[in-house]
Amino acid sequence: HPERPNSRGWDLTHRPTLEALDAARGAHRRTRWTAAPSSSGQKYSRKDEHAPLEVKNPADPSDIVGQVRWADEADVQRALDAATPWSAPPETRRATLDAVADAYEAHAGELFAILHREAGKSLPDAVAELREAVDFLRYYAVRASDDGGAPGTWACISPWNFPLAIFTGQIAAALATGNAVLSKPAEQTPLVAARAIALMHGAGVPDTALQLLPGDGTVGAALTGSGRLSGVAFTGSTDTARRIRTSLAETHPPGTPLVAETGGLNAMIVDSTALPEHAVRDILASSFQSAGQRCSALRCLYVQKDIAPALIELLKGAMDTLIAGDPWEHETDLGPVIDAEAQEGIRAHVDAARAEGRLLHETPVPGTGTFVAPALIRVGGIGDLEREIFGPVLHVATFGAHEVDAVIDRINATGYGLTFGLHTRIDDRVQQVMDRIEVGNAYVNRNQIGAIVGSQPFGGEGLSGTGPKAGGPHYLARFRPAPAPMQGE
Ligand code: GLU
Repeated sequence: HPERPNSRGWDLTHRPTLEALDAARGAHRRTRWTAAPSSSGQKYSRKDEHAPLEVKNPADPSDIVGQVRWADEADVQRALDAATPWSAPPETRRATLDAVADAYEAHAGELFAILHREAGKSLPDAVAELREAVDFLRYYAVRASDDGGAPGTWACISPWNFPLAIFTGQIAAALATGNAVLSKPAEQTPLVAARAIALMHGAGVPDTALQLLPGDGTVGAALTGSGRLSGVAFTGSTDTARRIRTSLAETHPPGTPLVAETGGLNAMIVDSTALPEHAVRDILASSFQSAGQRCSALRCLYVQKDIAPALIELLKGAMDTLIAGDPWEHETDLGPVIDAEAQEGIRAHVDAARAEGRLLHETPVPGTGTFVAPALIRVGGIGDLEREIFGPVLHVATFGAHEVDAVIDRINATGYGLTFGLHTRIDDRVQQVMDRIEVGNAYVNRNQIGAIVGSQPFGGEGLSGTGPKAGGPHYLARFRPAPAPMQGE
């Protein structure tokens, strides 16, 4: 395949770039976007009982970002009826997906504005997200092919935490392989999805090959229980993935593919040979970037006992430098969490730790909006975490000089296997740990988030996902699997 460079992104330290971006974003400070099922032509024309819902800015509930009309059962059926695999030759699909990437870049200012106001993404997070979306488009575009079995209709069910990047990656993969796509974006982030779909259609993706179905889990359930899909791409919770698997098994032929990327309980080990300032920088990024709302985020830090007191002091100081606030502002490091329900759940977890005397540190955040204070909580080990806390909360445990193997066993025993980080300056230890840790993405002496399309294919093992890894060479094959040979053949 011809080489394809990743997006150059936007250098926020380069003044003219930042000024141009500010001008482009500024036009959308008050824009209101809309989202509706594709079959209704983006208009609320049907006189129906489904009044559009308002989408509010999680950082500022007085800021109305737009309106969404959720799909109902009839919309889902109409979309399934209309879905037609994209029969254009692979070269056309490739050129069209490249044109979508160009359109995304040309609309960067507007897309950033929606990401700030609908998803609470800070400017650096929004930049990283758009880059990743563009990279997925171009990476899968060069691999567009008609290899494998017949194309069909795929449901792409995407999460709110990467409402542009993961949303686009799933769709681009299914389209590159010639399938029709029914896209069900997260209920919290329909507006960026609708804008992206409009850019895809504008670049030449046919209406019948790509349709939008906004809504909550009932829309996803109507799709996965329809008996009419060729496959499902899903990113979200492990529980939802299990429900999708059951629903597919009950209503679709055996072997209908499910490509699922799910949760994680990710750890990092910092031993006493690590460079503390370096480790603290990477811990901070891994735990608190995107307000901790990444499935790759660090949840449980293991620090070797002899350096733990000093490292934890450094970490507290570093946490206090984080600026939480309006995602629109340049200086903001940390936006709100996605909604009030998420905020309540995370706060309840932190409050329980506080009541037990295990809260080591908390950094203040604004009082309005769904902000959660970055928190550091002491635990005995990763086994104390009953579930993934999807927010800016880091748990810390300690280990003794001869306990590295035991710590790895405990991490593996969670059953999850998404990301892992190691900070050490002992070469043998790198080998020892990497040989035994059971995760999809392991990183040494760096942070453990922000996998790069093409060079760091992303995806987990065990409870963390089915594979193949997104942004890797094996991903597309799953979207158009060769027909299974007949029994006895
Ligand atoms: N690919 C992202 C990363 O490496 C995480 C994806 C997710 O949170 O679902 O940070």
